Amino acid sequence: MPDQPTVQYGETQIILDPSFPFIDLHRHIEGNVRLETILDLADKHAISVPATNVESLRPHVQVTTSTRDVMAFIAKFELLTAVMADLEACRRIAYENIEDAASEGIDYLELRFSPWFMAATHQLDPIGVVESVLDGVAEGIRDFGMRAKSIGILSRTYGPQVALKELEALLQYPDGIVALDLAGDEINFPPQLFEEHFRQARAVGWQITVHAGEHSDEVGALNIWTAIKELGAVRIGHGIGAWNDLPLMDYMLEHRVAIEGCLTSNVQTSSVKTYADHPLKQFLERGLLASINTDDPGISNIDLAYEYTVAAPAAGLTGKQIQQAQRNALTTAFLSSEEKASLRAKKQNLQGSSE
Ligand SMILES: [Zn+2]
Repeated sequence: MPDQPTVQYGETQIILDPSFPFIDLHRHIEGNVRLETILDLADKHAISVPATNVESLRPHVQVTTSTRDVMAFIAKFELLTAVMADLEACRRIAYENIEDAASEGIDYLELRFSPWFMAATHQLDPIGVVESVLDGVAEGIRDFGMRAKSIGILSRTYGPQVALKELEALLQYPDGIVALDLAGDEINFPPQLFEEHFRQARAVGWQITVHAGEHSDEVGALNIWTAIKELGAVRIGHGIGAWNDLPLMDYMLEHRVAIEGCLTSNVQTSSVKTYADHPLKQFLERGLLASINTDDPGISNIDLAYEYTVAAPAAGLTGKQIQQAQRNALTTAFLSSEEKASLRAKKQNLQGSSE
């Protein structure tokens, strides 16, 4: 079949919807630092790392075994944040995120980061971190012809007081950020602790996405309800917990609340046992606006192509459902209708010129 846009991982190929861009809506800067960059920054700043080359470093920062547990996953962040030794390191990591997304063939990326988390190890100035990340993203967009937007994260695990300071840092750049997110331990730091933070975010015109329902229990569903009703979330990160709550799924369908699906991440943290246990397929069958995203590709050792060609079929998605998820990503992207139309026009022009 000539001129069908495909996405390929190894031998496997998936045919994309030719008139829609390839989009990742849920990717963390902190979970996506190049192995070479970790070694280089460690060397530059005399930070001790338990490795001398990329291959010996890999098991310390990537999920390489079948051990599936959330704490083992979180431990992988340690070396990644350890090399964020100054603001230049933060800028470089953000810039390389854009470069890597461009070389993955991604047309549009929403990249998220928690300034407090990035600043914590070396006690950097969180406002400086925000500025450096936004600079790195802007330079990447300019140099690689990528389209991308930045999402600010409040790390809930530090508690609501610190989150206010984190918000204050992000609010220094109201136009550099498109949305506010909440990430971290949702069991001990439920969304209702952060109502005031999100009220302020909505007041400056930011969109809202919240990590909620990463697990399929009752707390998960409750947190999704709170994220939507009290924090104003129009997108939910993970959202697995919605699966056990029919009225919630009906509500999300009716109010077009989107789900940012992250298949491999959810398997690696044991949110689901296997890809086949993931409810993404059922969400799509019900017409929910669910998409396919990477979460922490550096730690998971994946890219967006892997999620489309390996993870999604393993989760039972048909080719049509994968294309639906691809279209849902554009529908629910934090872009104006003009920006969405321009992304599609670019795609259609490219498609036309290759025929
Ligand atoms: Zn995430």
